[in-house]
Amino acid sequence: MKILIIEDNPTNMKFASDLLIIKGHDVIQANNAEIGISRAAKERPDMILMDIQLPGMDGLSAIKLLRKKDETRDIKIIAITAFAMKGDREKMIGAGSDGYISKPIDYRALLSLIEILSTKGYGSHTGTDSS
Ligand code: MN
Repeated sequence: MKILIIEDNPTNMKFASDLLIIKGHDVIQANNAEIGISRAAKERPDMILMDIQLPGMDGLSAIKLLRKKDETRDIKIIAITAFAMKGDREKMIGAGSDGYISKPIDYRALLSLIEILSTKGYGSHTGTDSS
């Protein structure tokens, strides 16, 4: 799969990229939301890993924008939150993400979430109408 990682922390970016490349995925990188959104529209990845805490536009706003654009609305999105907080799930799904993982990232959980989402059909995400 082609997977876009939007993450501002270089260490996290490297870990996630290395892991996904080892698993045979094509990785595209963006270190902020604006670059990520434009790369998503241009390169049409199958999936996006979206860090929520980003400099400038935050990940939740970016997810909402991606869901509004024809070119990007069907891309699977996994939100990555800085730490697990009560209500995170509702917030992430409400913004239009298909799933979420909290930091520190459990890479086995991430890989299994990617696997689960990749077997679902396009447009199966929920919550786009609740924001
Ligand atoms: Mn961050």
